[in-house]
Amino acid sequence: MQSKPFGPTRVDVAAIGQGTWDIPESGVRLNEAKAAIRRGVALGMTHLDTAEMYGSGRVEELLGEAIAGLPRDGLFITSKVLPSNARYEDTLAACERSLRRMKLDYLDLFLLHWPSNHPLEGTMRALETLVEQGKTRFVGVSNFDVEEMLEARSYLRRVPLACNQVLYHLRERGIEHRLVPQARELDIAIVAYTPFGRGEFPRAQSKGGAVLESVAAKHGATPRQVVLAFLTREPHLFAIPKASRIAHVEENAGGGDLRLDAADCAAIDAAFPLRADGPLATL
Ligand code: NAP
Repeated sequence: MQSKPFGPTRVDVAAIGQGTWDIPESGVRLNEAKAAIRRGVALGMTHLDTAEMYGSGRVEELLGEAIAGLPRDGLFITSKVLPSNARYEDTLAACERSLRRMKLDYLDLFLLHWPSNHPLEGTMRALETLVEQGKTRFVGVSNFDVEEMLEARSYLRRVPLACNQVLYHLRERGIEHRLVPQARELDIAIVAYTPFGRGEFPRAQSKGGAVLESVAAKHGATPRQVVLAFLTREPHLFAIPKASRIAHVEENAGGGDLRLDAADCAAIDAAFPLRADGPLATL
């Protein structure tokens, strides 16, 4: 698994991590989902993404159970505060709750989940306070367009803005217009959520799907591994696919070792063209 410096943190983070939204919350599938997370970690997908929103806290508890006993310093754990909890004091309290649910002493990364109606300056000050208190190592935002990201960054005095986690998949490449170049220039990591478009992964029979199949065949890889390699092709790009099946996790981990060449990227670029610029797309 390729790992690389995560924006201004200089900490090496796995290019491909693991999402946890919608993991099964009970039954046999839950056990497989927890085993899948551990398998992913064993394969180097140590960046684990969750949020207080997922299952109203239940997913954080399950993630905590899944990683119990694993060496903490081998993991890079992200959670997110809901915009409705983004007042200064509420952000501090939300972080404490997330830590308690996961039975952790600290997070690696704590994000504002999407822009809130509460003053952004207060949220960013709270995130900074959490770093100073040792509750999180780094902070960032999610679903922030360029101007909002710059504003968030401007309120941080003593810690850098580590990342912006945004929607990014082959049919939704809008961030490449302005957000990706701006983040590159400012040394901010971009974390691609929903890298497979959830249930919208290109079918092998489609024109785009055929291109992915052919690039995959050239490398002895799979189309999903090709997609993950494409989305993380720049040094500051990371991705967090979610998989609750062990076979899926094993496949996704392989994307972290695949290097595409210029011809591969050109073929994918032509098959899934960048559409006109517009406001940031979100789920
Ligand atoms: P996604 O990762 O694009 O797709 C997840 C779906 O793909 C699941 O149905 C999964 O199935 C399937 N899948 C995964 N690997 C596969 C493989 N190798 N072969 C076949 N199917 C495979 O969608 P997502 O969950 O929306 O996004 C990923 C993560 O990003 C989330 O879990 C969450 O942590 C984060 N996220 C953040 C935001 C935000 O606002 N910041 C928004 C959305 C998502 P199985 O589960 O059955 O394996």
